[in-house]
Amino acid sequence: MATRERAEIENGVSLPSVGMDANKRRVTYFYKPNIDAHYHGEEYPMNPFRVDITHNLIVHYGLHRLMQINRPFLADKVDIARFHSDDYVEFLSTVSPQILAENFDSNYCQLKRFNIGGDFPILNGLFDFCRVSAGGSIGAAVCLNCSNADITINWAGGWHHAKKTKASGFCYVNDIVLGILELLKVHRRVLYIDIDVHHGDGVEEAFYTTDRVMTVSFHKFGDFFPGTGHIKDIGVGAGKNYSLNVPLNDGLDDETFRGLFRPIIQKVMDVYQPDAVVLQCGADSLSGDRLGCFNLTVKGHADCLRFLRSFNVPLMVLGGGGYTVRNVARCWCYETAVAVGVEPSPKLPYNEYYEYFGPDYNLHVEPSTMENLNTPRDLEKIRNTLLEQLSRLPHAPSAPFQTTPSVIEVPEEEEEDMDVRPKRRIWSGEDFDSDHDDDMASSKNSDLTAQTSRSVADDMDEDKD
Ligand SMILES: [Zn+2]
Repeated sequence: MATRERAEIENGVSLPSVGMDANKRRVTYFYKPNIDAHYHGEEYPMNPFRVDITHNLIVHYGLHRLMQINRPFLADKVDIARFHSDDYVEFLSTVSPQILAENFDSNYCQLKRFNIGGDFPILNGLFDFCRVSAGGSIGAAVCLNCSNADITINWAGGWHHAKKTKASGFCYVNDIVLGILELLKVHRRVLYIDIDVHHGDGVEEAFYTTDRVMTVSFHKFGDFFPGTGHIKDIGVGAGKNYSLNVPLNDGLDDETFRGLFRPIIQKVMDVYQPDAVVLQCGADSLSGDRLGCFNLTVKGHADCLRFLRSFNVPLMVLGGGGYTVRNVARCWCYETAVAVGVEPSPKLPYNEYYEYFGPDYNLHVEPSTMENLNTPRDLEKIRNTLLEQLSRLPHAPSAPFQTTPSVIEVPEEEEEDMDVRPKRRIWSGEDFDSDHDDDMASSKNSDLTAQTSRSVADDMDEDKD
């Protein structure tokens, strides 16, 4: 084995990337250890175990040495109520499975009102998880506001469906909206980009009437949860034309995605000139996801981050959906490497969860042979429609600051010593079925899995004004 190759494996990371991305970026990564203390079982799609297994790969690749590690503060009810309604926050903070079981009848109206129960259950530790997730995204925003980092990462964030007054699609607290509200204290214009397979409806809705936040969502559209995100949904009032929706069909591959993402985002950056960017990296758009229907590889998914990084605008990177756990970890680990500017060896280092990644033990995911139902005709029409929408915008709208609130100070916690490896928790030497995470979404919401073969262009034609 060549000396360099051996060094790459032993040291985890290998060569710095070259080209336009070669410049260093200061990266701050938010992580709370032992987040899986709230482990809910693998059938639960919002399983925070995904963040732990991602972190495990990050540490074994040595990426933690190339960035600042921050432990998120726990967002309080008052922080969460900056977006969510007081009664909903109060309910989330007090409810537990035991309370519900004992007082189901008296809580029934609230459960219906807040869209909780059935597919969106209350589980032990849920509010604590929301506090970590929201604290991470608010802290990531504060870090960018203070120019303490160029890129901030919070893989425990990205819960884009949660609404002001209710839960939706496994999302209870919308950490993204809270993070963007914090960014708006300092930054005039914030761009939100969503590459989860599902439409980023909660974030779009929160900023639908303002030009201070532009939202761009790439998602499967047509008889698929949450059902919103039509290309003609462009915002209203002052926010008209500041919501962009890119409706896509099953089988989206890397080349097709890049052919849309890069020209649209290039135009957005040219015209809107955001002061900060938030990227939701939902990994359910990867090939082989349990709930998704796209065919992206890890590299194809990460190309979005690579492209955005090249603009060197303050950037917040968040998690989101992703229901085949081993691929979520692969993707978010690789994207962490892209953020810090290194190209990790595809051969996975030995780690506590090594057996999850068999039989190939590779960082990357091969695309499947599924058919790409996004036709060249659809893609050209979508691209032209959105570029035309962007051409209607004034260059760099000068949204006035009504007020400039002071930047909040987040209590800093001590940096974690990531060289102290976490104890083995899952693999104990017994037989292990490497596919068992495929079962984790067995109780999936039927809305989330509805499929369609309708052409996006057909929908666009039908809905012509
Ligand atoms: Zn999703």
